[in-house]
Amino acid sequence: MDEDELKGLWKKTVKRLELEEILKDGEVKGALLKIPRYLFVEERYRGYAHVDEPLPIPAGQTVSAPHMVVIMLQLAKLRPKMKVLEIGTGSGWNAALIAELVKTDVYTIERIPELVEFARKNIERAGYSHRVHVIQGDGTKGFPPKAPYDRIIVTAGAPDIPKPLVEQLKPGGKLIIPVGNYHLWQDLLEVIKLPDESVRVKNHGGVAFVPLIGEYGWHG
Ligand code: SAM
Repeated sequence: MDEDELKGLWKKTVKRLELEEILKDGEVKGALLKIPRYLFVEERYRGYAHVDEPLPIPAGQTVSAPHMVVIMLQLAKLRPKMKVLEIGTGSGWNAALIAELVKTDVYTIERIPELVEFARKNIERAGYSHRVHVIQGDGTKGFPPKAPYDRIIVTAGAPDIPKPLVEQLKPGGKLIIPVGNYHLWQDLLEVIKLPDESVRVKNHGGVAFVPLIGEYGWHG
């Protein structure tokens, strides 16, 4: 498939997400059109990148389905200049979308070295390597050097809300995280840190993510 065909299929996917009333935010739509998912998968999966399902990436991980990425980005209500930490870089697609929305530096952590390299290459090809900083490590501990954050977006499923992530949010900041079972089912939580440092949690329903593995996540 050539680039024009891939672009055409991707535009149709974005239109369909809009018709299904999943995609509602004009800024998120603009970012999706600018940064198609086919730039973030291996050559052999490019022809499937428009399909609204997760796709395999190296090391047995996945790049999330477009509708899931839209739901999480819209929940995060990203605005220019916000300081954002993403946990679970994977392909780097979501991190590039975040960078397009906040128009400033984004920090993203990935535990698997092979994926750090994969994501860096993809991000560079998409033209976002100046703004997206891919860090190798255990994201359940957050990334203290750049804390506090306006938003922390976790794209893997945790057994619980990791304490360090709440600590590294600004008052009024938000953590978006799937919390629940290992592999099968989680609830997508929006955790808002209130000015008195307590949290309010809103549940946005069932999702399915690969596990968040680390000190404050699943063990092994
Ligand atoms: N956001 C990604 C994208 O745009 O392609 C998709 C993420 S994939 C569903 C989840 C990722 O989280 C995997 O790459 C996995 O290796 C990573 N992960 C799991 N536990 C982690 C941890 N403790 N710290 C950082 N990354 C982790």
